[in-house]
Amino acid sequence: MWIYLNDRFVKEEEAVVSVFDHGFLYGDGIYETIRSYGSRIFMRDQHLARLRRSADAIGLTIPIPDDRWPNLLHESMVRNNIGTPQQDAYLRITISRGAGGIGLDPALCPTPTVVIMGKQLQPPSPDQYRIGVTLIVAKTRRNLPSALSPQIKATNFLNNILAKREAIAAGAFDSILLNWESHLTECTVSNLFFVQAGRLCTPALACGLLDGITRDIVLSLAQEAQIPVDEGHFGIEAIYTAAECFLTNTSMEVMPVVMVDGHPVGNGTPGRLTQQLHRLFIANRARFIEP
Ligand code: PLP
Repeated sequence: MWIYLNDRFVKEEEAVVSVFDHGFLYGDGIYETIRSYGSRIFMRDQHLARLRRSADAIGLTIPIPDDRWPNLLHESMVRNNIGTPQQDAYLRITISRGAGGIGLDPALCPTPTVVIMGKQLQPPSPDQYRIGVTLIVAKTRRNLPSALSPQIKATNFLNNILAKREAIAAGAFDSILLNWESHLTECTVSNLFFVQAGRLCTPALACGLLDGITRDIVLSLAQEAQIPVDEGHFGIEAIYTAAECFLTNTSMEVMPVVMVDGHPVGNGTPGRLTQQLHRLFIANRARFIEP
């Protein structure tokens, strides 16, 4: 893999970062994962805007001007021979506070570390979409926004990793995290939707969750299709009694959920509205990729 590190592309073996990097020492950094469809990057400007919002939220100056990112992302695809008609690309941008003395003060780190990785996107298997996946509700709660906002896409991902460990231990695909008030938030790397009485429901951003880019598209597509939408505060029972449930993120798009905590969702197969929204997503995604 060719990796962009700070100011140039280097081979994977040479892409090394200091043990004094505050990303390593303290999880002090931010990231974005981006995908392409063929050579065209999906929602590129929205991902770059979220990267900037995360950077602003932690007081980190991104050392690369906005207008250089499109070329860097394309060069990463070309060098890694991805982003071709046969191979959609998975790109990950990581920016850490950089190397500095031991201590929490960000001023110890004069220069942020910038990394871009590119590899072939590994989408979920067709069987997962056909059969659907199972979830549990984690004991681990989602970070309190006033402690560490879930809107910051931070390299400190332990909150999500602890919930993922619970899912793995239970043999589930993933965990749903509740917030401090026992309201639903999201899963470890995806946003959560469900259907109640014909209405498409999803936890409101105020519940403390990442403002997923796919979540936003699904909400717009639902509105265009005149499907009633509720963004609100919901408890676990809303999921246990839902007719349908699905997850969204950049690489999965729309993934049906058929069981939560051992309760079948609806009749235990991917729901009608879920499938309709996934079809709409596929039919409309060309609107959301760069020209
Ligand atoms: N929630 C979390 C915690 C995530 O990490 C992600 C994506 O990585 C999402 C939701 C979905 O976001 P997006 O649709 O922008 O990929």
